Amino acid sequence: MRKPQTKSPRSLDEYRSKRKFERTPEPVGRVQLRRRGALRFCVQKHLASHLHYDLRLEHKGVLLSWAVPKGLSLNPREKRLAMMTEDHPLEYGDFEGVIPEGYGAGIVMVWDTGTWRPIDPKADIDRALEKGKLDFELDGYKLKGSWTLVRTARGAEGSRSNSKSWLLIKHRDHWAGDLDVTEVAPSSVKSDRNLAQILAEQPEVWHSDKPARNGRAGKLLQSVIRTAAEMRAEREPRRPKPSPRKPALAHPAAKHGDTLG
Ligand code: MN
Repeated sequence: MRKPQTKSPRSLDEYRSKRKFERTPEPVGRVQLRRRGALRFCVQKHLASHLHYDLRLEHKGVLLSWAVPKGLSLNPREKRLAMMTEDHPLEYGDFEGVIPEGYGAGIVMVWDTGTWRPIDPKADIDRALEKGKLDFELDGYKLKGSWTLVRTARGAEGSRSNSKSWLLIKHRDHWAGDLDVTEVAPSSVKSDRNLAQILAEQPEVWHSDKPARNGRAGKLLQSVIRTAAEMRAEREPRRPKPSPRKPALAHPAAKHGDTLG
């Protein structure tokens, strides 16, 4: 008899309920328990209504996810707010592109990717999440070394376990420092593209209904849209409109036929 499949306690229901897959290129995905290999992580740079960085850690067949408005810092003195969001499918770790409308509308870049592990190899990650403290190490292209995620006390009715807000803090280690890694290394590790280059691959979207209109994200999106439009124009130089007076088809062979004839 076959052993019953171990089922993951995690679910993609919330992820799926927030999206209309006929209108977004994001993967539907599925829970995929992997028995071998190191755990994967990714950080996606996401210019939506606000610019933020989504930290995702593989756990029990999904990607645990936190939206980090300022991105990860290498400076142990900087506590970065990290809002826990819904579990994402593993396939999401490779997703880079444009979400034209709906939840998360904007531009997504694979900003970093690699493997992660809890610092205590015997750590029970579910228990750590429940208790609100996870110490972990990243081995990415841009991010290396260890961080801690600590849930803050503010939640519904002051209850700690209901709080979605966490703080993400770099440990003091060999990789800690003052370098602003989001500034120094802004492009995709998947494609080496910047946000405008990712957008330029698409036909024009967002004529009026831009995902970000105000503030810094609005300004950034405005300039990204402009740059993408310039890139498109350069790539596809405008062809002269066919003149209605010219014959519909001036086939070169016909011409040759004339002169040779
Ligand atoms: Mn996001």
